[in-house]
Amino acid sequence: SPVAIVCVGMAGSGKTTFMQRLISHLYTHPDPTHPSPSVTKNPGAPPYVLNLDPAVHHVPFDPNIDIRDSVNYKEVMKQFNLGPNGGILTSLNLFSTKIDQVVGLLEKRTRPQPVPKAPEQSTADFMAGKTTPPVPQPPQVKHILVDTPGQIEVFVWSASGEILLSSLASTFPTVIAYVIDTPRTTSTSTFMSNMLYACSILYKTKLPMILVFNKTDAQDAEFAKEWMTNFEAFQSALREEEEGGSFGGEGVGGGSGYMGSLLNSMSLVLDEFYKHLSVVGVSAMTGEGMSDFFKGVQEKKEEFERDYKPELERRK
Ligand code: GDP
Ligand code: MG
Repeated sequence: SPVAIVCVGMAGSGKTTFMQRLISHLYTHPDPTHPSPSVTKNPGAPPYVLNLDPAVHHVPFDPNIDIRDSVNYKEVMKQFNLGPNGGILTSLNLFSTKIDQVVGLLEKRTRPQPVPKAPEQSTADFMAGKTTPPVPQPPQVKHILVDTPGQIEVFVWSASGEILLSSLASTFPTVIAYVIDTPRTTSTSTFMSNMLYACSILYKTKLPMILVFNKTDAQDAEFAKEWMTNFEAFQSALREEEEGGSFGGEGVGGGSGYMGSLLNSMSLVLDEFYKHLSVVGVSAMTGEGMSDFFKGVQEKKEEFERDYKPELERRK
C-alpha cells in the first residue's frame, strides 16, 4: 500500500527543496531505499504530489494537486482584510472543505491500475506470426508527498491542518518528516528548542516522525546524532558553550543553577522522545542521504500499521 509523507518544518529549513529531491529520487530509484539509481533504465514509480503552501511564489516541481489552484491567497487576504498568517490560515480552511474530494482522488490514483486491454489481433496477423506488442502498464503510485506552508504553526496548530492530517492518516499510512536547518541548529540552545518543538508536534499530530537534518552539505549532522544518543556529550557541549559565554552567565548549563537543572530534567523527557524517532542527515541540494530517509519511511510506515492504526480505529 502507498505511504503519505508530510513535510513540516520552520520556514527556510528546506521543505520545498527536499520535496523536489524526494521526487527526483523516486523517479530514478525503483527501490528508493537503495542508494544507487536504476542501472537497468527501469524508471522508479512517480509519486503523487500535493502543495499545501498557498503563499509560495515558485514551486520547483509540478504538483498533482496545488492549493493555489483552488484558492487565491492574495485575494483571500484582500477580501477578508487579513495579514499573511491569517491569509494562509483562511486559505487552508477553504481548502480543507474539499479534503474528501482530494482523498478520493488519492485513493483512485493509488489503487492498482487496471491492466489495459490488449488490442485485438487480426487472424491475418496471427497467421503471419506477428505478435501484438505488450501494452505498458502505468506505474502504481506508492508515495504521496505533501509540502506544507512555511509557517509551521499555521499548519500544525490549526483546525484545518488537523482535518487535513487526520483525513490523510485515516486512509493511508502517514508519516511526518520534520525538516531541520542543520547549520542553524549547532548551538545547544537552538538544538534543544528545535527538539522540543519537534516533540510538541509529535504529541499534537500523534503520527510517526522522522527527523530530517537537512543541508548536510553545509554542516555535517553527526553532532546532532551524537547529542541525541549520548547525553554526556550534550552536557559537555553545554558546558563548553557556557565557558564560551554564549549564555552570558555563570553556572547556566553545567548541571547547577536554574537552567542547569531545567536542562537536566528536559533531557529525560527528550531521551524518551528520541527513542520514538528515526533520524537522518540529508542534503536536499546534493541528494546525499536520500536512501537512508526512505529506509526511515519504511520503518515508520510499519510502525504506523502496527501501533498507530489500531489507535486511530479506536478513536473513531
Ligand atoms: P522552505 O521554506 O522550508 O520550503 O525552504 P526552501 O526549500 O524554500 O529552502 C530555503 C533555502 O534553503 C533556499 O535558499 C534553499 O536553496 C536552501 N536549501 C534547501 N536545502 C538545502 C540544502 O540541502 N543545502 C543547502 N546548502 N541549502 C539548502
Ligand atoms: Mg516551502
